[in-house]
Amino acid sequence: RPHVGVLALQGDVREHAAVLQALDVEVSLVRRPEELAAVDGLVIPGGESSVIDKLSRAFGMREPIMAAREAGMPMYGTCAGLILLADSIVDGIEGQQTFGGLDVVVRRNAFGSQVDSFETDLVVPAFDDQSVHAVFIRAPLVEQVGELAEVVASLDDGRVVAVRQGALLGTSFHPEVTGETRFHELFLQAVRAAA
Ligand code: GLN
Repeated sequence: RPHVGVLALQGDVREHAAVLQALDVEVSLVRRPEELAAVDGLVIPGGESSVIDKLSRAFGMREPIMAAREAGMPMYGTCAGLILLADSIVDGIEGQQTFGGLDVVVRRNAFGSQVDSFETDLVVPAFDDQSVHAVFIRAPLVEQVGELAEVVASLDDGRVVAVRQGALLGTSFHPEVTGETRFHELFLQAVRAAA
């Protein structure tokens, strides 16, 4: 069984742990470098990206996460987690940093006050064009997709809301709150391939 971690500094950690447990993997909450070293893949939850960024530095986790990612550890970020995996962000708070890894530009809180939160159905080519019910909560948007990254899902108007690059996956929405498991399964495929 693969052993995966959920970065447990802030955010919807429990929801991710529950999805992963239902997929029959060993799940650990990761707050310390030793805990990161013990897992084969890492989920970075939704929450508040600037807080997770600050706490990752306070807990001495920023460098270990970046080193693990560079060494090929599969990672999946939802919402704030996507922001943290982006190489570049727009509208971060002053001094906000990311771990990087995805060759994309992501805009925080891109849907503004008009629709802070909304739900919609997305058609996902990687799932044989089946649809996914997606929940967006003060969600970011992938504004630019660089050459190294690949679009996984877009809104009807073409705006990009899910990307992957090698063993990294990011979604601006929250599959972990709707009982959706296919994105976690995609992440677990990368974990099994890397193991
Ligand atoms: N707006 C949050 C941020 O900037 C993300 C929201 C979420 O993860 N649901 O980090």
